[in-house]
Amino acid sequence: KHSKMNATETVDQLLKDHRVTIFSKSYCPFCIKVKGLFDSIHIEYKALELDLIGEDGVAIQQALFEKTKQKTVPNVFVNGKHVGGCDATIQAHADGRLGELLSGVHYDFDLIVIGGGSGGLAASKEAASIGKKVAVCDFVVPSPQGTTWGLGGTCVNVGCIPKKLMHKAAIIGEDLKDAAAFGWQVPEQVLHDWSSMVDEVQKYVKSLNFGYRKVLRERSVTYLNAYAQFVDAHTVKVTDKKNKIQHITARDFIIAVGGRPKYPDIPGAKEYGITSDDLFSLKYHPGKCLVVGASYIALECAGFLHGIGVDCTVMVRSILLRGFDQQLAEMIGEHMTEHGVKFIRPCVPTKVEKVSDGKPGLYKVSGKMDSGEIVEGEYNTILFAVGRTACTENIGLEHIDVKINPSNGKIIVDKEERTSVSNVYAVGDVIDGKLELTPVAIQAGKLLAQRLYNNQTTLTDYVNVPTTVFTPLEYGFVGLSEEDAIKHYGSDDIEVYHSFFQPLEYALTDRDSNKCYGKLVCVKSEEERVVGFHVLSPHAGEITQGFAIGVKLRAKKSDFANLIGIHPTSAEIFTTLNITKSSGESVAKTSC
Ligand code: FAD
Ligand code: NDP
Repeated sequence: KHSKMNATETVDQLLKDHRVTIFSKSYCPFCIKVKGLFDSIHIEYKALELDLIGEDGVAIQQALFEKTKQKTVPNVFVNGKHVGGCDATIQAHADGRLGELLSGVHYDFDLIVIGGGSGGLAASKEAASIGKKVAVCDFVVPSPQGTTWGLGGTCVNVGCIPKKLMHKAAIIGEDLKDAAAFGWQVPEQVLHDWSSMVDEVQKYVKSLNFGYRKVLRERSVTYLNAYAQFVDAHTVKVTDKKNKIQHITARDFIIAVGGRPKYPDIPGAKEYGITSDDLFSLKYHPGKCLVVGASYIALECAGFLHGIGVDCTVMVRSILLRGFDQQLAEMIGEHMTEHGVKFIRPCVPTKVEKVSDGKPGLYKVSGKMDSGEIVEGEYNTILFAVGRTACTENIGLEHIDVKINPSNGKIIVDKEERTSVSNVYAVGDVIDGKLELTPVAIQAGKLLAQRLYNNQTTLTDYVNVPTTVFTPLEYGFVGLSEEDAIKHYGSDDIEVYHSFFQPLEYALTDRDSNKCYGKLVCVKSEEERVVGFHVLSPHAGEITQGFAIGVKLRAKKSDFANLIGIHPTSAEIFTTLNITKSSGESVAKTSC
């Protein structure tokens, strides 16, 4: 009969003597399944049937519990290492770990994530919570102007978060103009202090950086503030701020390195210009500003800069908001123009020259209009928002043959976010052909970890992702632009319902009359299913997030009509839209 000590010794001896040991019970279906798995891959094992050895079986099961904290059978060991029960063994087989255990290969980590931004942090936290040993390498290469920041990636430090807070600063300024009509006695001249805003925003960003480090610690994720480069498919070289180098290994890798702003290839751009990487922590008032570019970042930044009192001009190469519904994009442009933002279009910058030093300095920008005319202007700050480059150039991809799209440097992945190398995955802004949005990166990171380590199969759904451009009048949309819907279904099959509206909050001062706008793009042959939802309105992000579920669930125009509105809100307009574009009727707002 086994004493406790004997049972422990028996277990240890079995683990020493056998490459694979299965503590089993002869009648247990899960034990039969696990033994079948080893049979199917032709690996010999020692199965000890605990139910057939009487009291000894009970003692051994207790000894196993003390060793592994696992009470149940089967309890599987490979080369002395505890694998777990039936599900864990099958998962280890599926994700390749069983093969490594059998061959005696050892990696430092189950997973190394390169990039601690939205996608990378989501994936690493998820994998760690499933019990994997995870490391995250995050390193910010200073911008050409020397700006750098903490853990959390673009969104937290130089993207969504500071941008939205500064957008709010601008909205407060607009609201102050209406305050008197609501009885507030505000001084005639209300001044905005750039430095206070930047300080407060940066304080909040730093609190988020701290929070992310804390969460990683709590989840036992190893955080390396170091730059990672592949050496081979299982090894990265990591270099920290002090140039200390180490090599670490992992079974799997997730590349989530995001992107950084581009500069146009013209004299003086990098030397004198700044980008969104620098703007949100700029130590001095930007002065008179030129924003180059016409997409999300350019228009959002121009919008909030103008809103807080900065003299702002936007240089547009071609159209506003390429890829977005052009009717709404032009409405944004008109609204910004009416409020005092200047546009130079179509025009590209050709050179930037220094006029004088200072904080800010003064620079002369030359530009070439489409007509060939040369334009010149002097500005204190030139903000380039001409797109972003994926950070794939210097991460050693050439050593492991990860395929990239040569036209944009982005990583090519399959629908499971796997690259051309089987143990290397990629999520977020760095992947080719997908949306560059924080929630998209987070969802992809989380689902990938669940598929890799928790037997899940759900793929990221990149269709019908709602988004909002935080221009002074926000533009939210989900689904297709009117142009894309026509391209996809043909103009005869598309019906558009639309209307201007004025939020009640704007009525007392008659602010922005006939500027807010809602539009539903519907497919006639599918009972007017709504394939495009567009709104230009304050709080468009909040409105769009809610309605997006309807579009995702294939709601029809009649579903919107059957929905009872919430009065008085801006969003209720979508429950009462009854004028079609094809009717040609006026959609100017008339009354409440
Ligand atoms: P990132 O967040 O960029 O993280 C990548 C990280 O990897 C960075 O910290 C980087 O320094 C690090 N890194 C790179 N290479 C290495 C390496 N070799 N080793 C170690 N670390 C490395 N999205 C929205 O949804 N809503 C918005 O309102 C919004 N506003 C935005 C405003 C601006 C101005 C910008 C620039 C972007 C905005 N975005 C917005 C987009 C959003 O920020 C990105 O889609 C999101 O951050 C992408 O996450 P990611 O994980 O792919 O990469
Ligand atoms: P985009 O690539 O979307 O746009 C680049 C803009 O710069 C275009 O208007 C382009 O003009 C113009 N441009 C490019 N090269 C030049 C040049 N040499 N001279 C002048 N103009 C030029 O980049 P963004 O940086 O605006 O945004 C990147 C991504 O970040 C977005 O796709 C978005 O997913 C994400 N983002 C999301 C936000 C949100 O959710 N609210 C906010 C900000 C960013 P042209 O049209 O002629 O090519």
